[in-house]
Amino acid sequence: MPAPALPTHTRVVVIGGGIIGTSIAYHLAHLGWKDVTLLERSRLTSGTTWHAAGLMVTFGSTSETSTEMRKYTRDLYGRLEAETGQDTGFRPVGFIEVACDHDRLEEYRRVSAFNRHCGVDVQEISPRQVKELFPLARTEDVLAGFYVKEDGRANPVDASMALAKGARMQGARILEGVPVTGVTHKRGVVTGVDTPFGHVGADVVVNCAGMWARQLGARSGVSIPNQAAEHYYLITEKVPGLLPSHPVLEDPGSYGYFREEVGGLMIGLFEARCAPWNVGGIPDDFSFGEIPPDWDRMGPYLEKAMSRVPISLEVGVKKLFCGPESFTPDLQPIVGEAPELKNYFVAAGLNSIGILTGGGLGRVMAHWIVNGRPDVDVTGFNIDRLQVYQSNPEYRRTRTVESLGMVYQCHYPYRSMQTARGAKHSALHERLAAQGARFKDVSGWEGADWFLPKGAAPQGEVLSWKRQPWFDHWREEHRAAREGVILMDMSFMAKFLVQGRDAGRILNQLSSNDVDGPAGQITYTQWLNEGGTLEADLTVTKLDDERYWVVASDTAHRHVETWMRRRLGDAHAFVTDVTSGYAQLNVQGPKSRALLQAVTSADLSNDAFPFRAAREVDLGFARALCVRITYLGELGYELYIPTEQAVHVYDRLVAAGAPLGLRHAGLKALASLRLEKGYRDYGHDIDNTDSVLEAGLGFAVDLKKPDGFIGKEAVLALKARGPLRRRLVQVLLTDPDPLLFHAEIVRRDQKAVGYVRAASYGFTLGGAVGLAMIDGGGEVIDQAHLDSGTWEVEIANRRYPARASLKPLYDPEMKRIKS
Ligand SMILES: Cc1cc2nc3c(=O)[nH]c(=O)nc-3n(C[C@H](O)[C@H](O)[C@H](O)COP(=O)(O)OP(=O)(O)OC[C@H]3O[C@@H](n4cnc5c(N)ncnc54)[C@H](O)[C@@H]3O)c2cc1C
Repeated sequence: MPAPALPTHTRVVVIGGGIIGTSIAYHLAHLGWKDVTLLERSRLTSGTTWHAAGLMVTFGSTSETSTEMRKYTRDLYGRLEAETGQDTGFRPVGFIEVACDHDRLEEYRRVSAFNRHCGVDVQEISPRQVKELFPLARTEDVLAGFYVKEDGRANPVDASMALAKGARMQGARILEGVPVTGVTHKRGVVTGVDTPFGHVGADVVVNCAGMWARQLGARSGVSIPNQAAEHYYLITEKVPGLLPSHPVLEDPGSYGYFREEVGGLMIGLFEARCAPWNVGGIPDDFSFGEIPPDWDRMGPYLEKAMSRVPISLEVGVKKLFCGPESFTPDLQPIVGEAPELKNYFVAAGLNSIGILTGGGLGRVMAHWIVNGRPDVDVTGFNIDRLQVYQSNPEYRRTRTVESLGMVYQCHYPYRSMQTARGAKHSALHERLAAQGARFKDVSGWEGADWFLPKGAAPQGEVLSWKRQPWFDHWREEHRAAREGVILMDMSFMAKFLVQGRDAGRILNQLSSNDVDGPAGQITYTQWLNEGGTLEADLTVTKLDDERYWVVASDTAHRHVETWMRRRLGDAHAFVTDVTSGYAQLNVQGPKSRALLQAVTSADLSNDAFPFRAAREVDLGFARALCVRITYLGELGYELYIPTEQAVHVYDRLVAAGAPLGLRHAGLKALASLRLEKGYRDYGHDIDNTDSVLEAGLGFAVDLKKPDGFIGKEAVLALKARGPLRRRLVQVLLTDPDPLLFHAEIVRRDQKAVGYVRAASYGFTLGGAVGLAMIDGGGEVIDQAHLDSGTWEVEIANRRYPARASLKPLYDPEMKRIKS
């Protein structure tokens, strides 16, 4: 075969010609970046794409981004033939998801309301209607079906070919038989790729190498912790009466989905516990490959799935197919620019929905690459949420067993991943465990979620949509913070020491608030991009003129670090990640001053140590940075203690706290307390698409700072457009019974105007409380607008009256904080 004609330089190299690579090439070319070269190791679709089942489903996600990508993909596959002459095989035969137990019914009702709000026409249908649409299914135990008429199936190979053809028609180069052996870089920036046929210079590289993405990334020091796993479907002999026009049926409770395939039935499976494949590395020459099926392991799952469509047990099996698909630690794709290398983009780890989201993901990635930032919320799947240790073989081998199975589990609120736990312990772990802590996975840390009080009967984790057995313990932790004093271990927070002559200038340039005022003061601020939307939400404490203490949440750790480092330039400013070096203990509540005063000689009186003060203090034998600040709305302090002295300080605090009724509190209490106060949490209730003003954080923006800040012009432009018509609003249910979690629809005068982004139970306010981004539909959103409407929140088909407020409903005057 003649050597392929490689360009010496191209603007973008897309590595991999599966559905994702072809979609990104297509969308880049459509956005005007014609100088795109896609390099495929073998032949297009030869990795995972060729054997996908091709389900096209818009129902099922409570992520706005994922739902938009699904809708866009369905629409794109529907119109590609007209553009390219290549059919994608998309057939809108309809899709039905059945619920056969009450928890799933609750979940699908919640999800369907959210999906309808996002423009998906999903209908709840009766078991009889399910039977009419899919007569071969057993429906006597079905409680309801959720039907999307416009969904259906596509042919993954044809869809990829149509995208490739469309990309070529726009001028992109697509070369097969060219493996990328490495990505070259200089001073932290991509310069091109190596291939057996020579080097290709490139400004941007996009790693879409599917299950090979991890090992390719590792060669340039980029961590991409996806892992291939066995993934199955069975195809039966011909089934009389089964037609290609029959809808796709999915029954997660039976581990299976069902559709017609050349006259037989295809039964796809998501088993509860799966088998990772080739943890040591994916073979370089695996092309259009299959994995010998493990009948023994899959037998029980197959039996259960086949019993949903009993005729499948009679007609005979044609093939049990097993192919590899890659999965990620949290079942979200790995997308975006790698923290390790500038202009190294990744789009891999599609968790078995690469076909049905691939069109939309290609659009999102192309927009991100061309415009420098994404136009959708990417906080949930940005590559920088993940950590390097998650690429370890043992981690991947352990976690992947759980992640595939999660696809078909009921997605209960509060569920934490169970595998690959114990990777990170705070210095106080054993002490907290002895106090009854129940832990959850917090970016790999074991974070105390709530505490079982001494003497209380142990309660196992009961997954449900209702109040948990530990609801009352949570309430007591919440109450203690409001009325007494609590202790909370927050050592998982990301902490950075930024030092140097230019440190203050650089941080002030990044921050929309003034963080370079007097030394010994903490400042709450956001970091914005040039578009004025949020990149980070954090605090900066000025220790002295050349030392600053930056603290962000665990999920934002690498994003914040990368954002900072990439903007240092030649300045005399140096960033050190000190997360491991300091434990963080939060002492909060009206009695927190009395408690701390008992263990320090520092004067903590209001005059000597006012709100926002930050000083080094003595605590027993230790010295710690003590900052008077709160994330839950009370008088309180955050202590940053050298890790080796954390246990000592903790013991002193616990001893001194006994007469004050000190209580340990966990992350559940933190959530309920902060949401009552309307405090934001980046990645949960605010994200990269929100302007700082719409997010209600204008109070933390200093437009008068002499040297401005990144994003200032965009903030001014939004201000100039007049009063806001989209705003983050606090919502409180007036009925104390129901619970809110996420994605519940908010209505004003019956009309859906937004959804709850994050929620908890406001024990002090007396009902479930959350934050929702409200769209005024052209109307100005101010308190008068909120007060003049009738507000309701919809939970699983029922509507509950609510209050809506711009100001926090708890302590709006901040009297308690400043007391
Ligand atoms: C049994 C099964 C059923 C499925 N059913 C569905 C479904 O119904 N709906 C759905 O949405 N999804 C489904 N999926 C998932 C879907 O197939 C994947 O999510 C999707 O194909 C992933 O696409 P990709 O482009 O990321 O990976 P791939 O298709 O694997 O593409 C990666 C490409 O990169 C190339 N490559 C690798 N390394 C290099 C290198 N160094 N240089 C150059 N090229 C390289 C490979 O040759 C490959 O062609 C299913 C998967 C399986 C296994």
